[in-house]
Amino acid sequence: MAISEEDVLNALKTVQDPDLHQDLVTLGLIKEIKIAGGKVSVTVELTTPACPLKGKIKQDVENAVRSVAGVSDVDVQMTANVRPAFVAERKGIQGIKNVIAIASGKGGVGKSTVSVNLAVVLAKSGASVGLMDADIYGPNIPLMMGLAGKPHAEGNRIIPPQNYGVKVMSMGFMIPEDQAVIWRGPMLHGAIQQFLSDVAWDDLDYLLVDLPPGTGDVQLSLSQAVPLTGSVMVTTPQAVSLQDVRKGIAMFEKVRVPILGLIENMSYFNCTHCGGRTEIFSHGGGRRAAESLGIKFLGEIPIDTKVREGGDSGKPIVVTDPSSEAAVSFSKIAEFLAAEVSINHFSNQDFVKFTAEDAPGKPGVSGAVPARGYRPRAGGGEATLSRPLTL
Ligand code: ADP
Repeated sequence: MAISEEDVLNALKTVQDPDLHQDLVTLGLIKEIKIAGGKVSVTVELTTPACPLKGKIKQDVENAVRSVAGVSDVDVQMTANVRPAFVAERKGIQGIKNVIAIASGKGGVGKSTVSVNLAVVLAKSGASVGLMDADIYGPNIPLMMGLAGKPHAEGNRIIPPQNYGVKVMSMGFMIPEDQAVIWRGPMLHGAIQQFLSDVAWDDLDYLLVDLPPGTGDVQLSLSQAVPLTGSVMVTTPQAVSLQDVRKGIAMFEKVRVPILGLIENMSYFNCTHCGGRTEIFSHGGGRRAAESLGIKFLGEIPIDTKVREGGDSGKPIVVTDPSSEAAVSFSKIAEFLAAEVSINHFSNQDFVKFTAEDAPGKPGVSGAVPARGYRPRAGGGEATLSRPLTL
């Protein structure tokens, strides 16, 4: 008896996406079924190329199809199409499917390092990735990404420099290294908005935004300027850092940005001489805090001098030493994060529009703020800062 498409679909209905808790057919993840005699080819379209369970899903599909009477050969192709964030009442930036803020309660916990390594891992998985350095007070993403010089402009759009498959935009490209810029609320808001709208990001699955530490104007400006898929909090295990992260989480909740998860950086140290493990800042506080706050714990990253060297040399550890413990941690965290974004899409939550009223007394976020800051020169050439306030 000839195999019918219905037989195959019925078999595929038994395969669940472990993250989304529904079967692949109901989720619309089966893109194509081809039947040629006893050979069945199935194309599965995952919600992210960085799916942590890609191998398991592929195996489950193969087993299910093989169980259909008459099937002698199975070929499973895995593709991916990242879904855009579902944010009610908010219009996103065309072509950018997900904007993810990377935040921390305090500086020096490795937020930029985490942003860089996660961005590179996601790009390596096949996703289209951008990294926006909104840490305008200490923009060190260009250095960490091995990029220098001013970006070029084409017409009114700034072309983001690229490395390791990641498009990057940073205030660090726009200001001379020895100059400091004083940011007033409106100007800052304008710069954030221009980073989102005037940069030729062009079709991104994920735009990671490295925020300055704390709960200031940039965080609020960003939540106002664009519907965020969610935020990721980075902390170190010490109590003081965790206390700060709690404040950060409270702020994102106040502006109704979902928290995608918490990452514990500098979790422990594996001694290269004796092989022993030392928990310099204690360990496990991130997981406990995530549990008590009811948010996802995305994983922990050890202290490794190669992580710092990677940052200083502009060669992230996930590129130079992908099998190291730290790089494997970054990869797993990136996969969990991508899975969280997919879950967020399918859970169809009604994130309510952020309004300026939600941020009483916050300068620079309320009302219509004129876009200022840098402007690319029309007609091409180098992008420049039009109104720098230098010390
Ligand atoms: P933040 O963005 O939170 O201010 P950075 O990413 O700039 O922090 O990191 C601060 C310093 O710590 C940098 O020198 C960085 O290379 C280093 N660092 C970050 N994470 C690790 C790690 N897991 N192991 C070793 N050094 C790290």
